[in-house]
Amino acid sequence: MADKRELLNVVKEHQPLSRTQIRHLTGIRMATIGKYVRDLIQEGWIVEKNRSPISSRPKNVMLEINPNKGLFVGIEFDPEWIIGVVADMRGNIRKKIKRNTHSEKGKDVIIANLLSAIKELILDLEQKKIISIGISAHGIIDTEKGICVFYTQIKDWKNIPLREIIGQRFSLPVVLEGTSPMKAFAEKSLGVGKGVSNLVFIEYGPAGIGAGMIFNGQLFRGATENAGELGHTLVELDGPICNCGMSGCLEVLASRQVLAIQARRSLQEGTTSLINELSGGNLKNVTAEVVFEAARRGDNLSLSLIDNAAKYLGIGIANLINLLNPEMVVLDPQFTKVKDILLPPTKRAIARHTLQRLMENVKIELSPLGEEIGALGICVYLIEKEMGLC
Ligand SMILES: [Zn+2]
Repeated sequence: MADKRELLNVVKEHQPLSRTQIRHLTGIRMATIGKYVRDLIQEGWIVEKNRSPISSRPKNVMLEINPNKGLFVGIEFDPEWIIGVVADMRGNIRKKIKRNTHSEKGKDVIIANLLSAIKELILDLEQKKIISIGISAHGIIDTEKGICVFYTQIKDWKNIPLREIIGQRFSLPVVLEGTSPMKAFAEKSLGVGKGVSNLVFIEYGPAGIGAGMIFNGQLFRGATENAGELGHTLVELDGPICNCGMSGCLEVLASRQVLAIQARRSLQEGTTSLINELSGGNLKNVTAEVVFEAARRGDNLSLSLIDNAAKYLGIGIANLINLLNPEMVVLDPQFTKVKDILLPPTKRAIARHTLQRLMENVKIELSPLGEEIGALGICVYLIEKEMGLC
């Protein structure tokens, strides 16, 4: 029943709103709206807001999605962190956890940590309220089989049947998805991309560089659902070798990890830099954060490394804009944290390599969402799936 779903979608997008407002937005007849609303209230999808006993006429009572219809567990993990949330049917975060992945200890430890994170999240929840668990994972994912195929940044992370492992343990439906599309979904549903039909999300975190794409309001996933490997697009012919085995990939020229590696190399070669002081003279302490902080204080080495990374990042993003003509490009929350240093040179590089007409018609925005974007993204994706909207 497409119209009932349409009505549910309108309530989700514009809540709170009245039956009269629904009529204006959808053109559905008032009698039909009345029937659908009755059904949706009975099924628990929507609730009436503050209806007084001597109520105003039903057509003016405000309606909204029933947050208590069900709960979703969402997890994102990368080589450093596992971040998990419990979200209700409206996408409100009810609970959040963050803990170390300990990926250096290998796949068994990662799996054990993921399972205990989920256990902690669902600990005091009413089991029957939990609708599903979503995992948003980095690397190449086989979403159909629920397998993490491989991930260049965790050595033994190959062919892990994560969906089955988690499903067996918790006896709940499990969905495994890539992080970039889920983050794009979070922006579309809750972030700066609300109401935008053509949007590209640029992932720029500890786990590398990727792109999540939404076209005509729908996720673009590609033939095997692996579209968006922006980090492995070529930006320099015969450039340095990437973890994926190819050379000149964007990731090996512009990622946060590479910034740290390049800084360490320069220090080893004897370059004088504030990085040395900020890292206590220990190369192990040189991270992308340290490079950004040194740049903020005017350190020449850091500024030039960041300029160089921004140049390649700009080329990668410009290629995407030229190819896809999005209305909006949203930059990762991790990018937002260093916007003062990284945004200006990246924007300049994007402008330099993007065709004028496309540049004039694209908004470059910073994500307003927090570090839980990947975990929340898969929850809102599961919510839309549950509502039959995607
Ligand atoms: Zn690569």
